[in-house]
Amino acid sequence: MYACFFYSYRRIGVREMGLLGKTKAELAKYATVLKHSGKETSEFTDDFEPVVIKERTEKQEDGSVQMITCTSCKAEIPSGIMKKNLCVCPECGAHNKISAARRMRSMVDPGTFRKLKCKVPFVNPLDYPDYEEKILKLQEKTGLEEGVLIGVGEIYGQKAMIAVMGSEFLMGSMGIAVGEKVTHAFEVADKNRLPVVMFTASGGARMQEGILSLMQMAKTSAAVQRFSEHGGLYIVCLTHPTTGGVSASFATLGDITLAEPGALIGFAGPRVIEQTIGQKLPEGFQSAEYLESHGFVDQIVPRSEMRKVVGQLLKLHERKRWSL
Ligand SMILES: [Zn+2]
Repeated sequence: MYACFFYSYRRIGVREMGLLGKTKAELAKYATVLKHSGKETSEFTDDFEPVVIKERTEKQEDGSVQMITCTSCKAEIPSGIMKKNLCVCPECGAHNKISAARRMRSMVDPGTFRKLKCKVPFVNPLDYPDYEEKILKLQEKTGLEEGVLIGVGEIYGQKAMIAVMGSEFLMGSMGIAVGEKVTHAFEVADKNRLPVVMFTASGGARMQEGILSLMQMAKTSAAVQRFSEHGGLYIVCLTHPTTGGVSASFATLGDITLAEPGALIGFAGPRVIEQTIGQKLPEGFQSAEYLESHGFVDQIVPRSEMRKVVGQLLKLHERKRWSL
């Protein structure tokens, strides 16, 4: 499948990419973005920058305690308790969605995080209405540049490249920027001989960027492959939901695949599959537990233990990385 993607990538012309009628300057802008997919990373002389991981403020305007409704049991939980519990419901144990910033803070040793430098200019290849305004608003609201937060940090003293997808940013969908950041993360990790820890949460390819979003599947998969050939360790943690183009590319290419309890993991939604194959799907299909029992997931790890488990895995593989 990947070979097929590469083939189509090379053959796709200006017309097929929906760029017909663009001015020379506009085409040059796309060329700049696409050029990043190659080995030209020399402009990233210093790969990381110190940053404070910002979280969204949850203070109500009238000063009252904000309540968060559990998506599973519908219990009303004060936001402070939810925050302390890493968004796991204290009533039913459901793993509610967690922001990328909070996840990153919960994983790295305090003060060790450095953000990966990778600025990708905004493009709107399909001239999608209000797309730029939407992105700007989300950047302001979430504190994220795009649908993934990446940097280097330590987990129990083990240095790693850590990437966290944010479902709060357009469903964590993968467009040009997400694809480029993930690819660049693998290239820098390879160069610096760092393991990669990836937390996926995505609705799939970003429809606003059309076929250019689909190309990110091939690009990120190729980056994982190169990283793997050089002996890099890649740990994936599938979180709710991991679907579409992300599950069909770098989310399922890990050396070790972990998942959070109850996470929805799949390519197409169950209704679409049932309509296509004309059959009823088995109970729990596409859940992390179902995938674990069928060998696609190595271990289901509760959020409260994730840092410890990933830290142990990094420690366990430390020597192997350097002996290659
Ligand atoms: Zn609950």
